[in-house]
Amino acid sequence: MKYQLPQRLQKLVPYQPIQGDYEIRLDANESYFNLKPEQLALVEEKLCTVSYHRYPDPYAEEVCRVYATLYGVRPEAIVAGNGSDELIGILAGTFFDTGDRVAVFEQDFSMYRLYMELYGVSCVTLPKRADLTIDVDETLRAIQEQGITALIFSNPCNPTSLGLSRKEVLRLIEGTDALVILDEAYMDFWDQSLLDVAEQYDNLIILKTCSKAIGLAGIRLGLAISNPTLVRCMKAAKAPYNVNRLTQAFAEVLLQDAEYLQSAADTLVQETNNLYQGIEKLAKEYSAIGVIYKPCTNFVFFEVEHAKELYEALLAESITVRLMGNHLRVSTGSPAENKCFLQALELILKRRNAQ
Ligand SMILES: *Cc1c(COP(=O)(O)O)cnc(C)c1O
Repeated sequence: MKYQLPQRLQKLVPYQPIQGDYEIRLDANESYFNLKPEQLALVEEKLCTVSYHRYPDPYAEEVCRVYATLYGVRPEAIVAGNGSDELIGILAGTFFDTGDRVAVFEQDFSMYRLYMELYGVSCVTLPKRADLTIDVDETLRAIQEQGITALIFSNPCNPTSLGLSRKEVLRLIEGTDALVILDEAYMDFWDQSLLDVAEQYDNLIILKTCSKAIGLAGIRLGLAISNPTLVRCMKAAKAPYNVNRLTQAFAEVLLQDAEYLQSAADTLVQETNNLYQGIEKLAKEYSAIGVIYKPCTNFVFFEVEHAKELYEALLAESITVRLMGNHLRVSTGSPAENKCFLQALELILKRRNAQ
């Protein structure tokens, strides 16, 4: 029989991050802190001891121990992945039967739907309120009515930057038997984490990443935290050597410095707040700027007229942000980068008004 690509693959195109040499990158929510010389020196020392000719520890146990200490969870409750992206892929690819229906919110992190569709899992979209917050009662009703078996969402949310309180998330988890995959990629910037109860529910998996507040997007490390049954299943379903020795070595060294990581996260929160206020100030003068969402993250999401034109004008100034319909999502950069962004935005808005 002649091989045919599955329908769902035929129209699929490779992920296209913004490419090219732009001076100010505010499009991917990365931390603007690269490693300090002292950190690099520690890593360098560690890298001399790595057995590069051997496969890595399949469960990255030392990484899990260090991570567990940092976040106050048990190491046994953690599964390490090649970025949380890989973990989302593993869940999408192995945790669902035909007939299962997985719910995602509109809007939320686009990778959830992408992975579900890639693996042929049927995906249902649940709405948010007009102000982009999550209505827990509505969501529970929809889960019940539409026979949904799992819900995956980010909290705080990418791209809206909004957070759902711990109390509300708990009400959601306790109100359903569906599996809840709670992506806390940005929770280091807010204080409503559920990590301390990750093991207490049959139906909860929490995802974390080292790509945002931890500032290690380049090494690819994500973590899933859950109860023993689901942890065992994720460990069994993943590729044996999914987290390489270099990544493990980096993480073992760099995740030890809790004090530094906290201060970096605090700074990012402060800078995000400054960026938010800067945009608010512009909104008073330029009516093109609509709703600006109060961020619980390291980026600001705001509504703006002619968003695409603005986005392209910023690109022309060598500044990248993320265009999302009639909104822009701007990651916080360094104080100098944020200042450049705000100045460029003001200039572009002024130019447009003069037309
Ligand atoms: C950035 C991000 C991730 C992180 O993905 P990694 O693969 O760990 O880099 C996960 N979830 C959300 C919502 C994100 O914005």
